[in-house]
Amino acid sequence: MTVVERFLKYVSFDTQSDENSATTPSTPSQWLLAECLEAEMEAMGLEDISLDEHAYLMATLPATTDEKVPVVGFIAHLDTSPDMSGENVKPRIVSNYDGKDIVLNKAEKIVLSPNLFPELLHHVGEDLIVTDGTTLLGADDKAGIAEIMTAIDYLKSHPEIPHGKIRIAFNPDEEIGCGAHLFDVKKFGCEWAYTIDGSELGELEYENFNAAAATVCIKGLNVHPGYAKDKMLNASLIARDFIAMLPDEETPANTSGYEGFYHLTGMSGTVEEATLSYIIRDHDAKKFEQRLAVLQALTEKLNKNYPADTVTLHIKQQYRNMREIVEPQKHIIDLARQAMLEAGITPVVRPIRGGTDGAQLSFKGLPCPNIFAGGLNFHGRYEFVPIRSMEKAVEVIINIAKSIKK
Ligand SMILES: [Zn+2]
Repeated sequence: MTVVERFLKYVSFDTQSDENSATTPSTPSQWLLAECLEAEMEAMGLEDISLDEHAYLMATLPATTDEKVPVVGFIAHLDTSPDMSGENVKPRIVSNYDGKDIVLNKAEKIVLSPNLFPELLHHVGEDLIVTDGTTLLGADDKAGIAEIMTAIDYLKSHPEIPHGKIRIAFNPDEEIGCGAHLFDVKKFGCEWAYTIDGSELGELEYENFNAAAATVCIKGLNVHPGYAKDKMLNASLIARDFIAMLPDEETPANTSGYEGFYHLTGMSGTVEEATLSYIIRDHDAKKFEQRLAVLQALTEKLNKNYPADTVTLHIKQQYRNMREIVEPQKHIIDLARQAMLEAGITPVVRPIRGGTDGAQLSFKGLPCPNIFAGGLNFHGRYEFVPIRSMEKAVEVIINIAKSIKK
């Protein structure tokens, strides 16, 4: 099967995950894709195939050489985003894209236009797979799955190509931030791995945010407003003061690249009590700690102006930048970079303004940078994937497998 045939098959499974579910996988439909892949692995003749009780699927491509080289893994996720339906996806191939608007759905007037998505223009002359405008495509991350399966199939049927033992894994629930939680790193048994879950051709990512969530709780004192002078403490107004003391320019809407931020994600308040919810993000660990210290200092400052314990701050650490794990092992990045150059692709290393499963896996002992899968405009009806990008990802995986050295 070609990478395109595989991709079209995998997107026919609706594997939307559900953040309100308490089980793993969060939706039973993810099992169906996992079981289909398990059967394909068996047909391919892979070894140590295991599908555990939470739909984590792993398998081994045995070594073709006696040379002792590190065991390396490739990982992709089964689920698609809860943001948009993945049911009854009707993919369509646009051949030799001409650089103009693509009408996805005539009846509903849904158009994929380079005016809104200029990245389309990087793929003029290529064949693109698009949606019919009513669902997402699921290239995130079924392109990744198709690419890994195609590369492994190729290596399996070319035993004359020398390579070490390769492991592959497909996990559920990445889109709801749970893909790495139950990932059995020990069982996977790799020295390092790559998630094939990036976007545009050439992407290579190993820096993500350090992340925490902060909740600011404010206690007020309600008194009849007619008799409130020097008595009332309005929690909502104190919340306003807290917000005003954080720098306006350090918000998501005013930052990019390596710039971190304080992001007010929610607020609620009465006179009696008010709550502010923030997420804090920064690539730089030191600056990240400083941001948390700023929140602490603001809390203390307000507690000096008002009765003690008027403001309380709760900080929950979320994830950390994998750079500190990956960078000291530069060969992991160099190998991916070299594999791309050999495939005629210019590697594009950019910091991720978010987190990845790879970050969590890195801190669980499996350094895990992210490589492009080729899809663009993830999580919505405008998602598309250039076929050439998928083919190049297959090449990159094969090149990595071939060049792992002691
Ligand atoms: Zn993804």
